[in-house]
Amino acid sequence: MASSPSESARPVLRFAPSPNGRLHLGHALSALTNERFAARLGGRLLLRIEDIDRERCTPALEQALRDDLAWLGIGFEPQVRRQSEHFDDYAVALDQLRRRGLLYPCFCSRQQVRIAVAAQEAASGRVWPTDPDGAPLYPGTCRALGPAEAQARIAADEPHVLRLDMQRALAIAGDDISYVVIDEAGQGRAVQARPARWGDVVLARREVPTSYHLSVVVDDALQGVSHVVRGRDLEAATDIHALLQRLLGLPTPLYHFHELLADETGRKLSKSRQSESLADLRTQGATPAALRRRLGFA
Ligand code: GLU
Repeated sequence: MASSPSESARPVLRFAPSPNGRLHLGHALSALTNERFAARLGGRLLLRIEDIDRERCTPALEQALRDDLAWLGIGFEPQVRRQSEHFDDYAVALDQLRRRGLLYPCFCSRQQVRIAVAAQEAASGRVWPTDPDGAPLYPGTCRALGPAEAQARIAADEPHVLRLDMQRALAIAGDDISYVVIDEAGQGRAVQARPARWGDVVLARREVPTSYHLSVVVDDALQGVSHVVRGRDLEAATDIHALLQRLLGLPTPLYHFHELLADETGRKLSKSRQSESLADLRTQGATPAALRRRLGFA
């Protein structure tokens, strides 16, 4: 059914969890913050399942996640977008970048990257720079491969990823890329994106023919997302998203980054560290109302 003009003018927000573990309190905070923004803005709230990692994401975890959100009583629109059903959309975007010479195949294993970085450090006597997540910047080994060699290695079925040539991308996109961050009151301020600090990021892998960065940017545009409300842990990655939006000719939404919850030891809650799940809290007798109060959403 086509939406009416007033419907299409409404702000669009989304909560976009990955079904690769049980949701914890941090996810509840993120979903509730999205719900609050949507209510204040009179916006629509979408649920997007970010399940491109077909090994770690399972239907059972997706069902569990949806049960948790239903229990919490978040009012999502019924239509849910599942990224694993849209690899074609990501392939189109990837192709757009490839045709402009912005991608190159990289055959380096993690171990080879470590060795190349150590060699650079030994030669320069300087510590090799890391990206905002703490990983060493890719030293560019495969950027220098000639097209014939790259093609031959692909034809020989050598495992590889596709990286963005950051310097070329910035030469095309310009270095004045910015996006607007809004606070809880909706006040905006422009922030300069600094994608160069990420180096040649991976945009697709053989097993997963896309990446978090590429899919999130394509989906936000295809779904008409106007406000991205997400945790501070994704603030730095927004540099890459703003760059990709510019390169792909997509609109840049407004962004809000909420604070992260910490556990008793002060560390960020995380699925991989088995932080207490919403399911655990539920079995211990927590109610949605008590949980909302605990997180400041009375
Ligand atoms: N899927 C991401 C996660 O689970 C969040 C996506 C986003 O907000 O951009 O952390």
